[in-house]
Amino acid sequence: MADSRRTKNRCSFCGRSEDEVNLMITGVNGFICDGCATQAYEIVKENLGRKKKDEAPSLNLEELPKPMQIKAFLDQYVIGQDDAKRFLSVSVYNHYKRLLQKDAGDDVEIEKSNIIMVGRTGTGKTLLARTIAKLLHVPFTIVDATVLTEAGYVGEDIESILTRLLQVADYNVAEAERGIVFIDEIDKIARKGDNPSITRDVSGEGVQQGLLKLLEGSVVNVPPQGGRKHPEQKLIAVNTKNILFICGGAFDGIEKKIAQRLNTHVVGYNAVRNTATVDKDNLMQYISPQDLKAFGLIPEIIGRLPVLTYLNPLDHKALRAILTEPKNSIIKQYIKLFEMDGVKLTFEDDVYEYIVDKAIECKLGARGLRTIVETIMMEAMYKVPSEHKATFVVTLDYAKQELEKANLGRLQNG
Ligand code: ADP
Repeated sequence: MADSRRTKNRCSFCGRSEDEVNLMITGVNGFICDGCATQAYEIVKENLGRKKKDEAPSLNLEELPKPMQIKAFLDQYVIGQDDAKRFLSVSVYNHYKRLLQKDAGDDVEIEKSNIIMVGRTGTGKTLLARTIAKLLHVPFTIVDATVLTEAGYVGEDIESILTRLLQVADYNVAEAERGIVFIDEIDKIARKGDNPSITRDVSGEGVQQGLLKLLEGSVVNVPPQGGRKHPEQKLIAVNTKNILFICGGAFDGIEKKIAQRLNTHVVGYNAVRNTATVDKDNLMQYISPQDLKAFGLIPEIIGRLPVLTYLNPLDHKALRAILTEPKNSIIKQYIKLFEMDGVKLTFEDDVYEYIVDKAIECKLGARGLRTIVETIMMEAMYKVPSEHKATFVVTLDYAKQELEKANLGRLQNG
């Protein structure tokens, strides 16, 4: 034993011999084993990270995109929805300004204006959020409100929202504290029914109360790994004062509440004139904070989401444009797929009309476009790569034949 101690290389940190470790790295005057090297790396990372924690890269207003530039960028990917785009662009720009002002230590403090976007499912809320993320200069994350529940119940704690932001910011707290969070499906945490005290509403009002703390701006202790599976983890304090929250939701059925409100308002002197100007096909454009309250959001939350905007339902023209116009439109994606096999894919014009008609028929909105195109193209995608064709033309007859073969009923139920 004493003999082997003398002859074998040993780790200068833990003393293990070559036989006891996976890898021994040799230095000028000593050795380090793989275990110690890994541990050393972790220590270095943690310490350097801690130093970085209080610093966030500075922003320069001159270099940041202006609201009109942000909107022009969104226009490349998202069809229509001009109001929502304008609101978003201005809010993001103001968010930057507020962050810059904080650095300057001014007297007039610009308060943040969290946003809420209301629009039917599949009208582009998440797409807007994802697209804007591409040109942001601050950390950004999308979270789904449906998974949130009150602490102690199955689901995720509200704080997990900030865990995601911390992860995106690479655990640089100062950086995360000026980020933007998109909370999707905010309508799913609306209060169920008018009387909140009848049953325990773990994913409704309780979650709204929890969310309120984040929206208001407070110091929240965040589990860095998220979830409840790591009770031993050290919590990180994050101040939400400068985090911008953008919420989105479909608020199914809110049009009825809007209609009710409009109706009650139009009783009286101006009644006839007002009802005449109401566009009944798109009631969403008249949305007001009262409607959100009627839907089940608590007034405190609504008060913390001062910018309220809406998305229009997608009509035939919009769906047709979505199919081909955005920078990464569905059709462009299929053309690219075929191009990789050396095949030039083209569609006859009336195929587009047919696809849009079917999407409307199936009530699937923009989401349905992809399903329908996918169904039409499946057979071709299966065969063409082995056939060595130079071109493939999708005619109306071909589209009809493929879609009928696939049993449209399936799409309607989907
Ligand atoms: P939601 O409003 O439910 O968040 P999404 O943004 O997820 O809807 O939209 C679903 C899909 O439909 C998107 O991935 C996109 O392909 C398409 N889409 C919806 N609205 C638009 C739009 N206005 N412009 C372009 N594509 C859209």
